[in-house]
Amino acid sequence: MSDSWQTRTKLVHSGTRRSQYGEVAEAIFLTQGFVYDSAEAAEARFLDAGEDEFIYARYGNPTVRMFEERIAALEGAEDAFATASGMAAVNGALTAMLKAGDHVVSARALFGSCLYILEEVLTRYGVDVTFVDGTDLGAWRAAVRPDTKAVFLETLSNPTLELIDLRAVADLAHGVGATVIVDNVFATPVFSRAFDLGADVVVYSATKHIDGQGRALGGVILGSREFIRKTVEPYLKHTGGAMSPFTAWIMLKGLETLDLRVRAQAAGALSVAAALEGDNRLARVIFPALEGHPQRALAAEQLPEGGTVVAFDIAGGQGAAFRFLNALKLVTISNNLGDAKSIITHPATTTHQRLTDEQREALGITPGLVRLSVGIEDAGDLVADLKQALDAV
Ligand SMILES: *Cc1c(COP(=O)(O)O)cnc(C)c1O
Repeated sequence: MSDSWQTRTKLVHSGTRRSQYGEVAEAIFLTQGFVYDSAEAAEARFLDAGEDEFIYARYGNPTVRMFEERIAALEGAEDAFATASGMAAVNGALTAMLKAGDHVVSARALFGSCLYILEEVLTRYGVDVTFVDGTDLGAWRAAVRPDTKAVFLETLSNPTLELIDLRAVADLAHGVGATVIVDNVFATPVFSRAFDLGADVVVYSATKHIDGQGRALGGVILGSREFIRKTVEPYLKHTGGAMSPFTAWIMLKGLETLDLRVRAQAAGALSVAAALEGDNRLARVIFPALEGHPQRALAAEQLPEGGTVVAFDIAGGQGAAFRFLNALKLVTISNNLGDAKSIITHPATTTHQRLTDEQREALGITPGLVRLSVGIEDAGDLVADLKQALDAV
């Protein structure tokens, strides 16, 4: 039955496990361990734990399992492993499968901590990493080698919202037998087509849209049962990146409303982008669902809804951008995204502060650029706030 459920049904019901009390809301199993009926039962479970048999919360827990099954059902993945944060998921997916001497090709425009793992951590352990401009297929073609083990990318870059042609990159990678690992936060689990387009492994920071209400850190790795249980689980259960049962409960509740929230956010983002486009106080407005997006054809195929983030460049540089942020009354200054509340960030001085001027320029992170994560507020109220703040610049 559950295989034929539509998305919204899955998000409310998939993975549910009820205790003997028949609770309506999912139970939080705040327990690190589990008791066995006998010594023999303990021995048997350590030998081969069945579907609903748990040993220790670092390995798995019923509330965490509910979350894993629900997100796997949404994404259309065979299995999932939940982690303490998005970074534990990115790190876990990569380090679980790589060893010294392996070669990885990665897009350069990455979330800062992802770049740290690829550039600083993996290389320290002898993994050879080649970075490419993710939007340049020729660069991917030149970088992928017969011994390439994995490619890593974010389908939509942060904060300039450039798209990578996932299908084309996946074809190149699969040609040499490499695993395609996608950090899919900006595309969101609701609009994700990553597996259809050729991803083998999809990673989310659940901190973003999945919680969506600014409460908890979490992450998840999705893939084939073989990859999750034979490669990811042994690594993560022994290295301690597990999600806590309380966090899993927050994320389960987040999943129930995920589709409603993300669709409302995307509709709001389109309204905001359309209202800002053409305003002569802005040097550019970037949103993948706008006709004017430079990669319109690819965006129409890969992310027609455009996502929930809008970026725009305030004419007048950093001073003007700061005056704009400080004049906002409704939109809050912070650095999370995917939240029910609209959040604005000045990347050059915060999330991308550590880059050099040249690196920022190469990534299109100009001094006037701001990144707006659109929440679920009324779009008219958001536009009015943004316009009055532009008037104040
Ligand atoms: C936030 C984010 C992460 C890291 O997630 P945490 O939950 O903060 O650890 C990784 N990748 C992308 C694209 C993100 O936006």
